[in-house]
Amino acid sequence: MDQSIFAEICLHQLKMSGVKEGEKLIVLTQGQERLDYADAFMSAGQRLGASMYHMRLPTPLPTSGWNVGVTGLAAMPDAVEALKACDMLIDCIFLLFSPEQMAIQAAGTRILTAVEPPELLARMLPTKEIREKVEIAAGLLDRAKVMRITSPHGTDVTYRLNTYPTIAEYACTDEPGRWDHWPSGFVFTGGDDDGVDGRIVVAPGDILLPQNIYVREPISYTIEKGWITDIRGGLDAELVKSYMAAFDDHRGNGMSHVGWGMNPNAKWHNLVAGAFPGGMGMEPRSFYGNVMFSTGPNNELGGPNDTACHLDIPMRGCSLFLDDEPIVVDGDIVVQEIQMHRN
Ligand code: FE
Repeated sequence: MDQSIFAEICLHQLKMSGVKEGEKLIVLTQGQERLDYADAFMSAGQRLGASMYHMRLPTPLPTSGWNVGVTGLAAMPDAVEALKACDMLIDCIFLLFSPEQMAIQAAGTRILTAVEPPELLARMLPTKEIREKVEIAAGLLDRAKVMRITSPHGTDVTYRLNTYPTIAEYACTDEPGRWDHWPSGFVFTGGDDDGVDGRIVVAPGDILLPQNIYVREPISYTIEKGWITDIRGGLDAELVKSYMAAFDDHRGNGMSHVGWGMNPNAKWHNLVAGAFPGGMGMEPRSFYGNVMFSTGPNNELGGPNDTACHLDIPMRGCSLFLDDEPIVVDGDIVVQEIQMHRN
């Protein structure tokens, strides 16, 4: 993307994130990655009168797979202190799930993650309407005591919701200590540690992240008292089981966040290889009317499970009920106050 256009979309983002003259912002990158993001954000921030600098970490040593929550900041407490002292951190590394991110937020720094390809950032700019509707949806979820998800493929699972907060993601952040991810557009919470029971059948066309593949054959999960006790199916189930086994951590069988997608600009079909190389799947996490469950850690929500074994699985065509009230029916949002026009 042309650098001046990239700076324009970053300017829109920083305005939506309430950046004001005199605020201190830091853009965090590592190695050779996303240096153009740092330039674009710094030029946008300067135009708003913010004081900005770029913190660049060395390239991490190679690891296998997605080691959720492991970051290069862990070895650099002085750098973490600098990030705690700024108003807003633009995270172009992906600090989510790390103890460093939690400490930085707790110090009052707001954090925006921006790691997706510039073309996707441009296509999924934050809007006031999405923020408004996502916040209303978060209120509905926050008040609920029980979530039930069903599907024509055999999903019937219940999450009891008495423990964890609700998180709203609408792709910008203007409140101290609040984190968001650009792009996004969904809400989620987590079930009680022993409060998820039933069956989830991941159907053909549903998406496995971080594998970034569309499922071809159903995967059937059995869940008892908050833990996966059985996964069965064909090749896709074998892939999931093999991936999870590689972490050698039984806590990968825990139940992580659960919620639904609300962004009409996000398209289910856009995971297709080659459309946007390098993306981590924020578009499929956000598509309107998807129901996403996930497995593994719940420390992002304040829970005790901090395993690095994490899958996010957005599903089509599900129905989701909060305290027996339908919110999503057959993959479409049915509550008028949170509906958006699908273009
Ligand atoms: Fe996740």
